[in-house]
Amino acid sequence: MKIEKAYLQRCLECDSLVRVVKDQPNLTACCPNCDEVLRSGNSWSLGRCTFIAAAILILLPFGLFYPLLHIDLLGVPIYASVWGGVWKMATSGFEYTAFMVLICSVIMPFSFALLVLTIRLQRFIGQRPRYTLIFLTKAKQWVMLDVYLVALAVAAFKVRDYAPLSFDTYLVAFVITAILTTLLFIKIEPKQWWERFYPEYHSLEPNHSCQPTLCPECEYTFDENIVDKKGRHRCPRCESNLDVADKIKLQRVWATLIAGVIMMIPANLLPISATELAGATSADSLMGGVILFLGMGSYLVAFIVFVASIAVPFSKVAVILYLLLAIHYRWKHPIHWQMKLLHYVHFVGRWSMLDLFVLALMMSLVERGQIISFSVGEAAFYFGAAVFLTMISSSNLDARMLWRIHRDHNQTTSG
Ligand SMILES: [Zn+2]
Ligand SMILES: [Zn+2]
Repeated sequence: MKIEKAYLQRCLECDSLVRVVKDQPNLTACCPNCDEVLRSGNSWSLGRCTFIAAAILILLPFGLFYPLLHIDLLGVPIYASVWGGVWKMATSGFEYTAFMVLICSVIMPFSFALLVLTIRLQRFIGQRPRYTLIFLTKAKQWVMLDVYLVALAVAAFKVRDYAPLSFDTYLVAFVITAILTTLLFIKIEPKQWWERFYPEYHSLEPNHSCQPTLCPECEYTFDENIVDKKGRHRCPRCESNLDVADKIKLQRVWATLIAGVIMMIPANLLPISATELAGATSADSLMGGVILFLGMGSYLVAFIVFVASIAVPFSKVAVILYLLLAIHYRWKHPIHWQMKLLHYVHFVGRWSMLDLFVLALMMSLVERGQIISFSVGEAAFYFGAAVFLTMISSSNLDARMLWRIHRDHNQTTSG
């Protein structure tokens, strides 16, 4: 019989203990229970990731600070850039909304590429990248260049009815950066970097008899018992606090969800944008904007805006609420279906920012023009806050809680 070398790894999603084959870096290992990827077989090396991150850092200033498109208003060209949109929003009295756009479209993309370079530098000077790796994993979901790209298309659709629109060459830089960032997301594997930088933390042998613990931050499976001065259990590798009880995690989800729902009320009732066309001002709420597009015959844009700013936020809240209640009342519902819902909220969360990006672009394009002027409404801040809060809420929702309930039900039926 051929004995393959293997190590033990706990699945981050369902908490199963899985034997993963060793020394096969090109094979992808999936959890047999929930299909979660335990080890990616086609991830990039640190060297290649550094190269892509450097390319992103070089191109990013061109994509963010230079005009991506312009409209021709009575012979006067008006340019729109990512930074221009943020700036115009901030100087028009919407500093907080502008700051939210700034985080997702400027600060986080820069930080993400910089963090990859920092890790490479730390390897060069022989330093351990503990905090850099932790922050890299956390920063990922807040980098929204792909969402911004779709927002550019929507904004272009919106303004082309008012004035002739042309794209600028810097748009190429932005598109390439957005593609490279998305590639980097798919190919980056912080878990493997943890193993390379901290080789003294060995993986567990497959015949290990103890019940090992999993650190959700660095995904290290271990059996040591490390306690800090305050008596809290810590991960030996990344030093994260492991003693966060399910009850506290659930409280965090509830608190951010309730705050998000409260923010959604003014976000949907107040006007999100105000358009002044030939002296007549019209203030539109989220739904009003969709109806406006339908009236203009732009069905595709109406659909995109409806999905991103109305359907997604409401369905996201409904799904988080359902999963929370399923945990509280220990409902016996199909677990794979619940996991699909959880993946859905994780995936769509970022896409709701689309609407704010469109608003920022519109502001820099059609501002105080002679024919048309465009301004952001009070709802924009509440909308952005609702998106942020529900994103934090869903990231605190731990899949392992649902799996634990599922296992308990199975045990009572079989036992
Ligand atoms: Zn699993
Ligand atoms: Zn850890």
